[in-house]
Amino acid sequence: MRNFLVAGNWKMNCGPEETKKLLQGIKNSGISIPETIDVLVCPPMISLTVASDELKDAAGIALGAQNVHYEDNGAYTGEVSTQMLNEVDCEYVIIGHSERREYFGETDQTVNAKVKKSLSDGLRPVICVGESLKQRKAGEHQLIVRKQVEAALTEVDEEDAEDLVVAYEPIWAIGTGETATPDQAQEMHKMIRGVLSDLYASNVADNIQLLYGGSMKPHNAEELLSQPDVDGGLIGGASLKADSFTEIIKIAD
Ligand code: 13P
Repeated sequence: MRNFLVAGNWKMNCGPEETKKLLQGIKNSGISIPETIDVLVCPPMISLTVASDELKDAAGIALGAQNVHYEDNGAYTGEVSTQMLNEVDCEYVIIGHSERREYFGETDQTVNAKVKKSLSDGLRPVICVGESLKQRKAGEHQLIVRKQVEAALTEVDEEDAEDLVVAYEPIWAIGTGETATPDQAQEMHKMIRGVLSDLYASNVADNIQLLYGGSMKPHNAEELLSQPDVDGGLIGGASLKADSFTEIIKIAD
């Protein structure tokens, strides 16, 4: 069955110095990560090299980036390629976070291009989807998320699908302290699993980890993670403190 994946999205927090400190805090917490739990940290680009060095003696903690470009190299000022991420030992990359969609013009098409490029270059995409409050109130949330998942996976074949992770992050729950209820999360995750099994063989769809993101904290992680289709969390604020992040890892165990 699926491992849990506890993932920290540090967003625009922690330069190299703070990255070092936070990772040392996680390591010094004495936590031993069981084989059934995957742990991932995603610092900002500028901190990936330091993080990679710091994680060399940290068994069970993988490294990811928060974005990537879909071209190999060239005149794309400010961008970073899959090859560059591979060079600093990234295994994962977050793609299509709602903050990137909202503030940096990411579209379903760029998300799809980035997903395909990442998969072809050996990076595991963590594809973010989720509806706004307005869309939920209008009863459109299922349709919106279904479309985002289908668009992100256009021309992604079954062989590559094994490396996918999908994160459901309702926009209204991000950084607000308001979480989806466990029932709301499960309902959406089940729907996403259904979309995946329409696209791929059921054993493949069943193995894809589906994360919940949006104000996941130690106090609410247990009930969210106990839902059958919630396979972990994509954690913002609570991943910036070693004690709350390791607490959630323990809860997942
Ligand atoms: P918070 O946990 O701070 O709500 O952020 C969630 C998120 O956006 C993770 O990608």
